[in-house]
Amino acid sequence: MEQDLVLVIDFGGQYNQLVARRVRECNVYCEIYSYKIDIEKIKAMNPKGIILTGGPNSCYEEGAPTYSKELFELGIPVLGLCYGAQLMNLILGGKVECAPVREYGKIETFIDGSKDALFAGIPDSTIVWMSHNDYISQAAPGFEIIAHTADCPVAAAANEEKKLYSIQFHPEVLHTVMGKEILYNFVRNICQTSGSWKMDSFVENAIKDIRAKVGDGKVLLALSGGVDSSVLAALLAKAIGKQLTCVFVDHGLLRKNEGDEVEEIFGKSGRFDINFVRVNAQERYYAKLAGVEEPERKRKIIGEEFIRVFEEEAKKIGTVDFLAQGTIYPDVVESGLGGESAVIKSHHNVGGLPDYVDFKEIIEPLRNLFKDEVRKAGLELGLPEFLVFRQPFPGPGLGIRIIGEVTAEKVKLVQDADYIYREEIDKALAEYKKEHGTDAPWMPNQYFAALSNMRSVGVMGDERTYDYAAVVRAVRTIDFMTAECAEIPFNVLMTVMNRIINEVQGINRVLFDMTSKPPGTIELE
Ligand code: GLN
Repeated sequence: MEQDLVLVIDFGGQYNQLVARRVRECNVYCEIYSYKIDIEKIKAMNPKGIILTGGPNSCYEEGAPTYSKELFELGIPVLGLCYGAQLMNLILGGKVECAPVREYGKIETFIDGSKDALFAGIPDSTIVWMSHNDYISQAAPGFEIIAHTADCPVAAAANEEKKLYSIQFHPEVLHTVMGKEILYNFVRNICQTSGSWKMDSFVENAIKDIRAKVGDGKVLLALSGGVDSSVLAALLAKAIGKQLTCVFVDHGLLRKNEGDEVEEIFGKSGRFDINFVRVNAQERYYAKLAGVEEPERKRKIIGEEFIRVFEEEAKKIGTVDFLAQGTIYPDVVESGLGGESAVIKSHHNVGGLPDYVDFKEIIEPLRNLFKDEVRKAGLELGLPEFLVFRQPFPGPGLGIRIIGEVTAEKVKLVQDADYIYREEIDKALAEYKKEHGTDAPWMPNQYFAALSNMRSVGVMGDERTYDYAAVVRAVRTIDFMTAECAEIPFNVLMTVMNRIINEVQGINRVLFDMTSKPPGTIELE
């Protein structure tokens, strides 16, 4: 069965993956390629539509990313967004210049053109997300201006006959109130797609593909307990059962109870019929990390030790046919001007795992999925919600949430503090939702406790203490590239502080880290 495809051509914009996700939300399959993709390759793929993304450059400058004019002559509908819109007009004979007034943020836009196609169902004025310094000062011949703002005469232009559309704003960003509708109009109506691509069929199809590829071969997977590798383990378990061996290395730097949770789900008493090996390497790691304070050195030790442990286990298993990796689409499409070079993501981000294992081929069944799609697949495969919606957790684990030397004792402190903190935040979030029917405006995208290397004097039960200070952190972010402090209600922080100090012996102070990124990072080391 031939499935409809819409191509996103990447000019380096920051929202490009969002564009592809929005297309998939219209139930149309979508892939991202760099603007360097050859036109012949595009023709061979026979897409139903093409979307040109935004980008940081000015298209009229020497050497700026561009594309051959032929793209607009294929008879395939093209939608240009921001840079893509500017480029389309420039290539087709319009004019693009530095705008006298740059627009950034939510801007009211007035629809001037027909409401039969791109703007079907869109009100006469609507709020959109703008982010540009340049503007189309003159639309290309054959184009009609179909929207404007106070400062932007060509907020959208179209050549209806050729099905070429350019919009200066970003419909993929949720701040554009009617963004989804506009993209839907393009993807489903203008491109005439059937909308038959569904995530539900992913699991079913993936199982078939895996079976066909693997045959009766053996597959090895390094299971970290994170979302991607867990979903992959569940998928492979369904597809090939006992032909799969999962090696789970507990490096003693996991969150509280996490090692046991992973074992409970994937181990003998769990619901999957696979070979599951848990390696309790805690002591090995602590021994290697003793006395080491420098963050980079710690990361390196943890990564190297992982390879060594995994290698030993792989030797016991012998030659396998396939090494499975939890690569997902954002790993494949590099941010920025990507879409062409595949990045192999290996367990714990150490790289080099394939060099140490004897196998014939790598399989990456999640390779085309976005994170939220991976989560959806996980739920369909019957994984529990707490696992599927787990927060991002760094490969080196608590090793980089403990400032300075890592010891078993400090790991226990940070695990306990972190557990309390997450429990209280989750509780407050649930309460807010129950009361207001919506998510709290301060809802953090990531929140965790770390352990500072500072010890200070306190007093508890009339006794002097000299203990560590826990650091609690909560950030709001869309892309994890930049982040700001989440405004956790003060009473929640007070409860957290009280509980940590009362319940975690060895911590006598709680600090709230309100640093944004940049200048800070989300993790502390
Ligand atoms: N760099 C272009 C401009 O400043 C396009 C910006 C964009 O695509 N967001 O206008």
